[in-house]
Amino acid sequence: MRDESCIFCKIIAGEIPSRKIYEDEDFQVMLDVSPATKGHALILPKKHYANLYELPEELAGKAMCLAKRMAERMTLLLGCDGFNIVQNNNEVAGQTVFHFHMHLIPRYTADENGEMIWWKAQKFSDEVLDDLAKKLAQK
Ligand code: AMP
Ligand code: ZN
Repeated sequence: MRDESCIFCKIIAGEIPSRKIYEDEDFQVMLDVSPATKGHALILPKKHYANLYELPEELAGKAMCLAKRMAERMTLLLGCDGFNIVQNNNEVAGQTVFHFHMHLIPRYTADENGEMIWWKAQKFSDEVLDDLAKKLAQK
């Protein structure tokens, strides 16, 4: 459950240093080396899964529960005003390290990252939206 070429696997094994802020049986949480804001951290499963598609459901559930606990604790300790949780899958979606991780990003009123989490809203016809809803709702 380790990928020899994976930087996060090396961090988990202690071969590359990190600023660890939490650890349990399944996960490590560390500060991001290139933070969007003060306190930006990453939740990593200790076993190597490339992305959300590979992550077992049980660990996905645990990761979300941990994200909630970390967000509450970090908000208390940092005094931030809000929080983004971001999780990228595959290069097209901005993933650069291919070991599943969740970004915990404390937000501050004056953090100058207003456009950090953004998308350009697009327009689709009613017909396209109706087809899409039908397709995605199929059992
Ligand atoms: P993503 O673009 O979602 O794959 O995010 C990868 C994140 O990992 C980026 O925010 C990087 O700054 C962060 N990162 C890469 N290498 C390290 C490292 N050695 N220690 C901590 N964070 C890292
Ligand atoms: Zn890995």
